[in-house]
Amino acid sequence: MVTLEEIKEYLKSYDGPEINIMEVCGSHTAAIAKNGIPGILSPWIHLLSGPGCPVCVTPSSYVDKLLELAMEPGNVIVTFGDLLRVPGSTPVNLSQIKGKGARVEMVYSPLDMVPLAKNEPDKTFIFAAVGFETTTPAYALLIDTLIRDQIQNVKLLTALKTMPEVIDHLCANGAPIDAFLAPGHVSVITGYECFEPIARQYRIPFGVAGFKGQELLAAIYGIVKLVGQGRVVNFYPSVVSRQGNAAAQKLIDQYFERADVAWRGLGVVKGSGKLLKDEYSRFDAGSRGLVEDHKANRACCCDKVLMGKMKPTECPLFGKVCTPMTPQGACMVSTEGSCFTWLTNHRTQ
Ligand code: SF4
Repeated sequence: MVTLEEIKEYLKSYDGPEINIMEVCGSHTAAIAKNGIPGILSPWIHLLSGPGCPVCVTPSSYVDKLLELAMEPGNVIVTFGDLLRVPGSTPVNLSQIKGKGARVEMVYSPLDMVPLAKNEPDKTFIFAAVGFETTTPAYALLIDTLIRDQIQNVKLLTALKTMPEVIDHLCANGAPIDAFLAPGHVSVITGYECFEPIARQYRIPFGVAGFKGQELLAAIYGIVKLVGQGRVVNFYPSVVSRQGNAAAQKLIDQYFERADVAWRGLGVVKGSGKLLKDEYSRFDAGSRGLVEDHKANRACCCDKVLMGKMKPTECPLFGKVCTPMTPQGACMVSTEGSCFTWLTNHRTQ
C-alpha cells in the first residue's frame, strides 16, 4: 500500500518522459485548482483541462436561439445561473436582454419550474437544458412529471452532451494526451465500462477519479504509472461501478435518443449528444439543427483550450481583455471553465 506522502514524493520528483494528463470534467478542473495540485507535480507532468464544463461547450447557435426565444412575448426562459453571461455569436447574453424586457428566471433544479408553470398557465416556460450524462436524468424526470401532471406549457431547449464520444473525438483528432482523468460524476451514471474501448483503441490509460485532493493525487499517480497501456482503472469505487446506474440510464433512454450535436470550438461530433425522441417533440423548443458555432470574439482560443492544444494562459486575451467580469468566450464564464479557474487560482501550469 502506497502512502499519500509517497505518492506526493513520486509525483514531485518524476523525471521520465513528459506526460500530458487531461481532466475532462469541469468539477475536476475546479478541484485541481482548489487543492493546489499543479504545484505538487513535477514540471514533466502537465494537466490539461478538457471539454467537460457544460456551459463552456454549449455552442453559440444555442445561445442565439435562447436569446431569440427570450424575446418572444409570452415566453419565460428558465436556467441555471452559469448560462446567464455566456455570449452567443455576438457579445450579447441572457443577462443583458433580461434588462431589455425578456423574462429570465434562475432555478437550482429542473423540477423547480413545475410550480412556476402551474402558476402561470398562459406563459410558456422554456428550460435551458444543458449538461452531460450527470444532469440528463433530471431532465428526463422533468418530462416524466410534465406528462404525469398534464402540464402543457413547459418546453426544453436541449444541449445535452455525452462524454465517451467527445473523448474519442479528441483522441482521433490529434489532441496531445497521454492519459485521462475520467469524469467521476458522469461515471456514476454511465459506469466506467464506456471508456474501455477508447482506452484500448488509443492505448491511453483512464483513471476514474473522485474530487478530494488525495483522490485526485491517487488517480494521477495510478495513470502516470500506466502510460502507454489501454486500461481503465476505477479510483472512485465508493460511488462508481463498471456498469453505472441502470435506473438512470433507463430513464434517459425512455425520453432521449443519441444524436450528432455541436460543441463550442469543436464543431459537430458524431453521436455525442442527446435529443428528445420524436414522440416527445411537443416538449422541444427547437433544439434540432443547432450546428453553427461562431465566436463572439474571433481572437478567443476556446477551441484550442478545449482540445488540450493550448493552455488558457497562452490565449492573448487571457486576463487582459478576457476576465470573469468581461468574458470573451464561454471558458471564462463558468466557475468550472478552464480559463476562469486558471485565472482565479493564478494557475500557470
Ligand atoms: Fe476564450 Fe477568454 Fe479563454 Fe481566451 S481566455 S480562450 S478569450 S475564454
